[in-house]
Amino acid sequence: MSIASDPACLFCKIVAGELPAEQLYEDGEILAFKDINPQAPFHGLLIPKKHIATLNELEAADADLVGRLFLAAQSLAREHGLPGYRVVVNTNSEGGQVVFHVHMHMLGGRQMKPGLG
Ligand code: AMP
Ligand code: ZN
Repeated sequence: MSIASDPACLFCKIVAGELPAEQLYEDGEILAFKDINPQAPFHGLLIPKKHIATLNELEAADADLVGRLFLAAQSLAREHGLPGYRVVVNTNSEGGQVVFHVHMHMLGGRQMKPGLG
């Protein structure tokens, strides 16, 4: 079982309003905010409000929540006029994950190379 919130977690602190963030989207279960170190003109981070450390801690009951993260990305793309974009979920340190609260990077506003270039 995942815990609702981890007081030591950076993104839980953003959810709790204890750390500032430039908010892009919010609903009951999802928050999206601008990445502090953007890798593209549009770089959003979309997170579940509840603390889930990595993709590997997802449970079947979270399937709807994860689906809604993608729908939130779709809606942000429309709102920000992004004709194309990339979503990435780094998983564990070997996968480049630094903040252990699951998050979807959403990158857009510049031409991405095909593949992962
Ligand atoms: P990852 O390497 O997938 O764990 O990505 C973590 C991301 O969080 C990086 O792109 C950071 O720039 C971003 N980040 C770290 N601290 C903050 C913060 N306080 N507000 C917004 N983004 C942050
Ligand atoms: Zn957290």
